[in-house]
Amino acid sequence: MLKIFRPYERALFTFKKSNNMNSPEQIEAERLLSVLFYSPNATAVYRGEDITILSANQAMLNFWGKDRSVIGKGFRAVLPELDDQPFFGILKNVWDSGETFTAKNYPAVLLTEDGPKKFYFDFEYKAMLDEYGKTEYILHTASEVTERQEAMHLVEEKSKSEQKLINDLSALNEEYYATNEDLMLKHEELFTANAELLKIRKELLTANHTLAENEKRFKTLVEKSPVAMASLRGETFEVDIVNDMVLQIWNKDRSIIGKPLLEAMPELKDQTFIDILSKVYETGQPYYGKEIKALISNGEEMKEHYLNFAYQPIVDENNNSVSILVVASDVTEQVHARESVIEFKNRLEIAMDASRLGSTEVHLATGKMESTAQFKYNFGYAANEEFNYSDLYDAILPEYREHIRGLVQKAVLTNGVYKAEYPVRWKDGSIHWLEAHGRPRYDKNGVADRMVGMTTEITDKKLEEQRKDDFLSVASHELKTPLTAVKASIQLLNRIKDKPYSQTHIRLIEQSDKGIEKMCMLIDDLLNMSRLGQDQLMLEYKTFNLHEMLSKSCNHVRLEDKHDLILTGNESIEVYADEHRIEQVVVNLVNNAVKYAKESREIHILTESLDDHVKISVQDFGEGISESVIPHLFDRYYRADHLGSSYSGLGLGLYICSEIIRKHSGKIGVHSKIGEGSTFWFTIPAKTGRIIADAALN
Ligand code: ADP
Repeated sequence: MLKIFRPYERALFTFKKSNNMNSPEQIEAERLLSVLFYSPNATAVYRGEDITILSANQAMLNFWGKDRSVIGKGFRAVLPELDDQPFFGILKNVWDSGETFTAKNYPAVLLTEDGPKKFYFDFEYKAMLDEYGKTEYILHTASEVTERQEAMHLVEEKSKSEQKLINDLSALNEEYYATNEDLMLKHEELFTANAELLKIRKELLTANHTLAENEKRFKTLVEKSPVAMASLRGETFEVDIVNDMVLQIWNKDRSIIGKPLLEAMPELKDQTFIDILSKVYETGQPYYGKEIKALISNGEEMKEHYLNFAYQPIVDENNNSVSILVVASDVTEQVHARESVIEFKNRLEIAMDASRLGSTEVHLATGKMESTAQFKYNFGYAANEEFNYSDLYDAILPEYREHIRGLVQKAVLTNGVYKAEYPVRWKDGSIHWLEAHGRPRYDKNGVADRMVGMTTEITDKKLEEQRKDDFLSVASHELKTPLTAVKASIQLLNRIKDKPYSQTHIRLIEQSDKGIEKMCMLIDDLLNMSRLGQDQLMLEYKTFNLHEMLSKSCNHVRLEDKHDLILTGNESIEVYADEHRIEQVVVNLVNNAVKYAKESREIHILTESLDDHVKISVQDFGEGISESVIPHLFDRYYRADHLGSSYSGLGLGLYICSEIIRKHSGKIGVHSKIGEGSTFWFTIPAKTGRIIADAALN
């Protein structure tokens, strides 16, 4: 146990200076030592390298647990228990260096009655220096601070445990916070759930209320609906709720309410509706009908209607049908409209086919065309061949292309129709005239994106026009020739009018007469043609003897005496026909023989009576007609080429003849051989054919 130094305890100490013990310094040191001796602090004085203990007061001896016998001995020798502690080393260092060493709360294990024990000290090894700065002795002062140290330890321990406590607490606190947050969250969830529950409860309450109102509302809904609606209840489809619209379609009034459907509308008996309703009722599956034909009685007769409708089953909580909601619309008008559009389209197609009208749609940006077969055909393309806008322009004869392009562009700009006639060259080289119409089509932004076009071939019409044009120039020329001759004759006559009547007068008068005669004939032809064109050639039927008529006609030929008219055949043939017109035909054929077979002296007129018709032939022995032109001889304006010779004529004679014979229900034709001459013939029904002729008249 530690022995605490008490100040009142006297302790003796000896301080011995090695060299001069009685010097003033010695006194000084002794005095100092005595002071120290009484100091409550433990004090010791050392000297030398082996740290000889010069002096130690009781307090120090108490610390050491030694008695005064240690004085004058080496530190290590008397305190071997401190060997493994740093004190000797420190003292040695202080001695050698002259530097004081101070320590606080320094631990030292000292021997006590109870064995070695740890104490704490504040101590100082103060180096006391001589005038040369060398260590003369070391003053060791120490005070035990074990209690303080322990107290501090205690405080430290306490503060440590406090800190731990704080740490623990803060951890706890954190945990608490986390838990709290969780709780808050849970609370919030609970709160939301609660609100939800409240809402559901409210909804349920409302639903309950709604349920009660539902039927009422449903009824109002059906009744006020702008579309035809009805509700049919139960397996017999009892008419439960109806609105005016559905009554209108059904052509019924409200008296049907409460009746089973078949009773309310007996006309539905053999129609599909009841079956469909039954199926919907059984399966619970809705049914949608599109444009279904319904025959609905209007009280007097059954009227055809087309209906779009939905049958929606209404089920109870066990999913069993209780009624069927019917929603319907009468689409009769639309169906009819569509049918008539289809009909119209069909008719249009027929008309287009009949008129050989081809149609196309050109996509202006790409030049792609969607064309009908006829359209392609008009340009000489097969239906399966690709045909685009560029091909179209390529087919058009070059001199027409730019003009057509201009017309199309103008139509696009003005939203107008373009109309044009142009010739196209087919791939086989043949030229065909087309009439084309087109109209632009615009997209929703008003930009022309397509062109719809139609074409039809007008080659025949064009040729006809061409022939007409040629004919007009021929006709004027033909008329002008005799007119010029007549004019000249009259001018000459005028000049010699005062002169005595002479041969010149006669010649000029005859010339004028001939010219006028020729003009009359030409004008007759023109008039006849014009009448034929307007179908105004009237026949005046009568019975006459053919032979008689023929022998009287063509006197002008006989008078000219350039040809012999030889009449052969049955002299008694009587025909029922327009005598004047038949004579006109014969005269025309004889005149042609005179004109085109000058060298043929004989001209034979042959009459034959065949089964039910009479045949009259006019035969010449002239140059004959080439086989290739024969099919065209009876065409209007047709005039064959006669190499080297030019004949006046309008190309109307044979055409008029054929029309007259056609009107008599007869036939006309020609046999001819180059170099041998030609036989023009016609037939008309024999007298027995009167009935036929009468029929033709009517
Ligand atoms: P045109 O007024 O030109 O004579 P037609 O219709 O009477 O017209 O005759 C048509 C063509 O038939 C004539 O242009 C002529 O070439 C040919 N033709 C008519 N009759 C004869 C004939 N007897 N012999 C040879 N060619 C004829």
